[in-house]
Amino acid sequence: MNKFEQLGLNESLLLAIKDLGFENPSEVQEKAIPVLLEQNTDLVALAQTGTGKTAAFGFPLIQKIDAEDKSTQALILSPTRELCLQITNEIKQYSKYVKGLHTVAVYGGASITEQAREVKRGAQIIVATPGRMQDMINRGLVNIKNINFCILDEADEMLNMGFYEDIVSILSDTPDEKNTWLFSATMPAEVARIAKKFMHDPAEVTVGTKNSGSATVSHEFYVVNARDRYEALKRLADANPDIFSVVFCRTKRDTQAVAEKLIEDGYNAAALHGDLSQAQRDSVMKSFRGRQVQMLVATDVAARGIDVDNVTHVVNYQLPDEIETYNHRSGRTGRAGKLGTSIVIVTKSEIRKIHAIEKIIRQKFEEKTIPSGIEICEIQLLHLANKIKDTEVDHEIDNYLPAINEVLDGLSKEELIKKMVSVEFNRFINYYKKKRDLSGEKSDRSSEPREIRAGDPVRYFVNIGARDDFDWMQLKDFLKETLDLGRDDVFKVDVKEGFSFFNTDGEHTDKVMSILNGYELNGRRINVEISKNDGGSSSRRDHNGRSGGRGERSFGGDRKSGGFGSRKEGGFRGERNDFTRGERTDRSRSDRPSSRREPGSFQREERSPRRSESNDRPAGRSFEAAKNRRPRRS
Ligand code: ADP
Ligand code: MG
Repeated sequence: MNKFEQLGLNESLLLAIKDLGFENPSEVQEKAIPVLLEQNTDLVALAQTGTGKTAAFGFPLIQKIDAEDKSTQALILSPTRELCLQITNEIKQYSKYVKGLHTVAVYGGASITEQAREVKRGAQIIVATPGRMQDMINRGLVNIKNINFCILDEADEMLNMGFYEDIVSILSDTPDEKNTWLFSATMPAEVARIAKKFMHDPAEVTVGTKNSGSATVSHEFYVVNARDRYEALKRLADANPDIFSVVFCRTKRDTQAVAEKLIEDGYNAAALHGDLSQAQRDSVMKSFRGRQVQMLVATDVAARGIDVDNVTHVVNYQLPDEIETYNHRSGRTGRAGKLGTSIVIVTKSEIRKIHAIEKIIRQKFEEKTIPSGIEICEIQLLHLANKIKDTEVDHEIDNYLPAINEVLDGLSKEELIKKMVSVEFNRFINYYKKKRDLSGEKSDRSSEPREIRAGDPVRYFVNIGARDDFDWMQLKDFLKETLDLGRDDVFKVDVKEGFSFFNTDGEHTDKVMSILNGYELNGRRINVEISKNDGGSSSRRDHNGRSGGRGERSFGGDRKSGGFGSRKEGGFRGERNDFTRGERTDRSRSDRPSSRREPGSFQREERSPRRSESNDRPAGRSFEAAKNRRPRRS
């Protein structure tokens, strides 16, 4: 009898578990499943993400559902669309041998009528986000008056996201006799309140210490001047050439701005926040999972529950408002038994917050100093040497070797090595030679935004485009009208699929930013940002919108040769340049048509480390091992 059998699971589940390759139950499964199977009870289960909670409630739920009865019997609430789909997918796999059992996902951003139709066809289990669920209830599209089970998954995250009212209202639409199972990583006061209000004498399951950070994550903080935050971030990235990270900012605006700066500075970054369309977010997540994006800059809300393996660093570019949130952030790394580092960039005045967090996570932070330019150069140099060593030679190059040999004839091996490395490295050293240490007092303000003056053209990025039914003329008209500007005040309008660029004179910048930001267009909030580029020459003649100048250059191939910092001077050329190209079609504004890829980007196909996940699953998987190989989904 295997361990799952011992928990009391039935044949059809055991078969599915076998297909999934699960060998042993995880701790939370071991503790929760027997309780839920044997008793009709409410339950509060506390366990970190990645501990197998979905199966902990999914298995007993599936076993308890009457598949012959078509009515809705269970509601699973989860904070985001991504998680909602993930859970649905998981439940479907678990229940594949249960005839007649149907699970439907209900979430915003997709057709509500289609979802309602699916529910109507007979769905015993509904997996929903609170907002859309509320909507469905209000429109009378679902009936949850007779459900037997309600599961609140990632309850703390849902409440963090402000779903309290929705949850209360949804629960009040369910029968008192049902069982409520609440799953959460932490137990803040609000969760306790929900538990108290809606649950009767719940059984309790706790895995690990309550509210403790994962033991596999080490915590570091770096004290910098507020204005050096961005420079510090870059250095941390440069000091970790293989970084694969989630960078948290406090607001959508900062998120977008930091991501844009990183991209302009040649990093493989992308933004993830709520102002992006669902399609954009999906594509960003896809690139991140595929590792074309090395630095995912995200808001807390957008990064909820992100479940990507092998994240090396979580960077708190700014600390969250709520200290509790720190746990969620740092939980994005150190998963599946891997080690991870959670980094916090703070100013002096924020150090006390670090101490408050230490109390919550019951772990100490290590204070560190931002690496100096020299240190970073050393790290990069070694990285380069290793890269040279590990590079596989494409024998296409043989054709060129005679000519190359002729040029390099007479150089000794030592000389050759020195020169090879210097080709890549000199300009990089030059960049950091000029940089002071960040612990110093004075700032060269290199990363400060440039000053905007009347008379100078300013280029903007705005998150509306062809998908919102604009062509450049219509967008120009819309902008003129909304901003109350004259005929030629808006120029170089360049409309892409999901976003656009345009210019105005610097004197209108305040107006543009204040009126447009937050403006609602068909229920979507407009977000406008100043782009670093001015859209090419400042001449206004070219305002037909077709050329778009070079305003979008930061997304194009000609932008910078180098990979590091804001170093126009270059960096390790080949290296990050390839990444940059790879990422360009995939990152947040990835709806740029692929036909726009410059020739030469073919390189990326061979280079980008896309892992094939489907075929390398082991026959049996232990919980730890399995998590490294979980199928990609979003
Ligand atoms: P949580 O909800 O706690 O964050 P999930 O339920 O999403 O965690 O599970 C994390 C991953 O572990 C999933 O890919 C799931 O398929 C896998 N998993 C769950 N239970 C087991 C198990 N007993 N053995 C192996 N892998 C498992
Ligand atoms: Mg989960």
